[in-house]
Amino acid sequence: MGSPTRKPIQFTSRLTADAYAKGILDHDRVLLSRAITLVESRLPSDQLLSEELIQKILPHSGKSIRIGITGIPGVGKSTFIEAFGKHLTSIGKKLAVLAIDPSSQRTKGSILGDKTRMDELSRDDNAFIRPTSAANTLGGVAHKTREAILLCEAAGFDVIIVETVGVGQSEIAVRSMVDFFLLLLIGGAGDELQGIKKGIMEMADGVVITKADGDHKKQANQAKADYQHALHLFPVTESRWTPKVLVSSAVEKIGLKETWEMIEAYKAFTTTSGFFELQRANQNKNWFHSSIEERIKEEITKHKALAEKIKKAEIQIAQGVISPGAASREIVENFIQLLGKQ
Ligand code: GDP
Repeated sequence: MGSPTRKPIQFTSRLTADAYAKGILDHDRVLLSRAITLVESRLPSDQLLSEELIQKILPHSGKSIRIGITGIPGVGKSTFIEAFGKHLTSIGKKLAVLAIDPSSQRTKGSILGDKTRMDELSRDDNAFIRPTSAANTLGGVAHKTREAILLCEAAGFDVIIVETVGVGQSEIAVRSMVDFFLLLLIGGAGDELQGIKKGIMEMADGVVITKADGDHKKQANQAKADYQHALHLFPVTESRWTPKVLVSSAVEKIGLKETWEMIEAYKAFTTTSGFFELQRANQNKNWFHSSIEERIKEEITKHKALAEKIKKAEIQIAQGVISPGAASREIVENFIQLLGKQ
């Protein structure tokens, strides 16, 4: 117990929302990084400041193309993003990468543990890389990626790449916040080995077969033909865009220009049809609804007794003693009663 005058410990000094906003609009990368740290913070005071900041920069956001990139570990995501990113900056684009840093999960005994990801790109003046520790993610996506996208846009980045580690749930989350969803695959590895579910394939606007060099070249081209065929069998997408399959080699710099041309063609196609704006509007609506759900859940679990009841119910649900529907009704009714007493 502290004295009434004791202040909570501040781990980092916070600026005002105006100061963050000004720095971001002036393209100050240090402030952009600090602002992303702020929005990722779970401290209630930071959350209020973060909301104020997002509100301020909102009119300056939205002007980028948002690209989600997924694929199993080892498919070549970071190597591809680095080579693709260098191509983008060479044609005058300003690129922000919201990356997942897997090093926290691959510690001792890992062959990739010491590898610095996207080293060259991180030294590029026109690129900004924000790694999020994989440990700090929910299903492979940083929990405040949407806010980080808006901040990067306000800081003048016109291409935003959101990387996901490809663990099932994360693809769905990332799909709900990007304009174009790119799936990376390896030729000759087989769908099952790559954990590719049909649903993930159906979400992709483009597929890139990686490592199309040396001995893998032939396999990559074969895989391209196979996936192209498979995609033809899928129902017409909501955007009416026909997903394309390309091959690429980060080593030989193959397929990078073509990947960008595919994304630009998609943007032109969906802008003309109106789908581009419609998708963003729907994504915002869904974001709003999931925020409401998240907030209510947070309020509920603030009550210790209810948090305990939820834990107990989880066990009973697992045992088949009680149904999830009935258990959730009871929790919400208890919550409403508690509110009435306040
Ligand atoms: P991630 O786990 O999906 O990010 O995969 P990485 O980018 O770390 O790549 C995994 C391995 O594949 C590394 O050893 C890379 O050097 C290798 N790799 C990535 N891209 C290519 C490529 O285009 N050609 C070849 N030959 N190897 C590649």
